[in-house]
Amino acid sequence: MCHRALLDATYRAFLLRIDEDLAAETRAGGCRRCGAALHRDLYPRKPRGGPGDPSKSDRRRLSFTCSICDKRHTPVSVRFLGRRVYRAATVVLASALRAGLGDWRVKQLTEWIGVPRRTLERWHAWWVHEFVDTRFWVIAHGQFMPPVEVAALPASLLARFDGSDLASQLTATLRFLAPLGEGR
Ligand SMILES: [Zn+2]
Repeated sequence: MCHRALLDATYRAFLLRIDEDLAAETRAGGCRRCGAALHRDLYPRKPRGGPGDPSKSDRRRLSFTCSICDKRHTPVSVRFLGRRVYRAATVVLASALRAGLGDWRVKQLTEWIGVPRRTLERWHAWWVHEFVDTRFWVIAHGQFMPPVEVAALPASLLARFDGSDLASQLTATLRFLAPLGEGR
């Protein structure tokens, strides 16, 4: 599968189904504070990055509110990386591709995904400086042996996940990264 197809509507719909499964797990667990049932609650997001307009369901992040105490529960997501407005798949894929590209190709990449070059540079800085300091990564990085090369993130991370093609590797990476936005 070519990397262009990875950001298309079919792949996005596939990621949405994974998010729905993750949300169902959250709902089945009940309220973390009082144990009561959770109500489904959607809040709007405007995901950016990748060709084409987001579909209606793509604009919503799944969420639940407790039926008794009102505590909000936001399930982990393979579509959103914490509070970032760009799609998680775009942030991972574009950042991974950037490393191996010459100037001209970087220009093409930024035009195609609709992300300014400075945003791409900011993402790179985020991976190598901030991501590695997150509580998530501090705990999770130990499972990789030999250690994941920080300077080459996120390409070095993507390469650690087996898959028959780039799509399965990207999906596995997004699943791995999903808890990043937990608790927000
Ligand atoms: Zn509750």
